[in-house]
Amino acid sequence: MAVPLLDLCAQNLPLESELRNAFDRVLASGHFIMGPDVGFLEAEIASLVGAKYAIGVSSGTDAILLALMALGIEAGDEVLCPSFTFFATAGCIARVGAKPVFVDSDPATFNISVAEAKRKLTSRTKAIIPVHLFGQCAEMDSIMELARSNGLFVIEDAAQSLGARYKGRFAGTLGDFGSFSFFPSKNLGAFGDAGLIVTNDDGLREKASILRTHGSKPKYYHKYIGGNFRIDTLQAALLRVKLPHYHRYTEQRKANAAYYSDKLSQIDGVTFQTGENDSNTRLILPKVQDDRDHIWNQYTLRVPGKGRRDQLRRLLTEAGIGTEIYYPRPMHLQDCFSQSGAAVQSSCPVAELLANEVLSIPIYPELTTAQQEAVVRQLSISIDRVPLLD
Ligand SMILES: *Cc1c(COP(=O)(O)O)cnc(C)c1O
Repeated sequence: MAVPLLDLCAQNLPLESELRNAFDRVLASGHFIMGPDVGFLEAEIASLVGAKYAIGVSSGTDAILLALMALGIEAGDEVLCPSFTFFATAGCIARVGAKPVFVDSDPATFNISVAEAKRKLTSRTKAIIPVHLFGQCAEMDSIMELARSNGLFVIEDAAQSLGARYKGRFAGTLGDFGSFSFFPSKNLGAFGDAGLIVTNDDGLREKASILRTHGSKPKYYHKYIGGNFRIDTLQAALLRVKLPHYHRYTEQRKANAAYYSDKLSQIDGVTFQTGENDSNTRLILPKVQDDRDHIWNQYTLRVPGKGRRDQLRRLLTEAGIGTEIYYPRPMHLQDCFSQSGAAVQSSCPVAELLANEVLSIPIYPELTTAQQEAVVRQLSISIDRVPLLD
């Protein structure tokens, strides 16, 4: 049985008539830029995560960029971020003229290591961008403590973590800004690009809103140098059709993750990620931290041992099981950062290890039991064919 990594049609087509109605409504309104659905979506997401304000934007990338601009991050500044993340986190820092300072990862959670972040602080450090990778929050208490004691701004990159919680509080609401993405593969996927930022600060909300429309207020009078960072009315309207189902999507992802963790942990040599796994470990399963609520944008395995991840992936591909490597090259080793002076050079050995070992398997909400059984079956067959070498 073939199991794709992701099946957007399985989620969207059951809502076809409602989506068409939303499209028709926007079509008939003629109000394509900043129509009423934008404000409604913002209010609904703000309420979902318990934030005071939400600002819909053009993408998850622009969400980070806009947050950095609103905080006044600029040339000469340094911003801490994990090396093991999607490019946008680091790219936006460089685009405002600041330098990303790449921080190594905590091998137990894939998230930024706060101890390492502390070691990379300088007098130029202005902000930190923790990424809540794969749907689980970073260590926010120690990050906020580090930020408070050093006067740093905090932008939470919650692109993969809408609705995830840390000690009961929602991802994106603990720092100065939280950024979200509605890229189609995220847990709440739009029909193209879209994103959003949240904040609890009145001044930051005001500044980010103005920057979203070319820095102008009123129209044609430019207070700041902003950009066009608006979300389409149409994307907002379509997202609002999916939003009432979001809780169910998340519950299904959690159930799928629980199924994998149960079945896969019964295979010989398979353990949960602790950060210190022994040399007989053939496969490492992701672990939920006790104080966090994981929303499983990805179910990411680690396959230790040189070349074993790629061998396992090849076997799964042959068996029709979709997988992806998030992410094959950490940011500190990317050409654009390692060769151009665009970033502060640093070593991140854990990020390099993860890049060689991670493998994400299908976890989308609409997976059937038969499909999940097929994934587990193929994994247990395939893992026997990629022996550990010493
Ligand atoms: C998807 C993603 C982004 C960027 O979002 P887009 O909507 O694709 O621009 C940023 N950071 C992380 C961690 C992401 O996963």
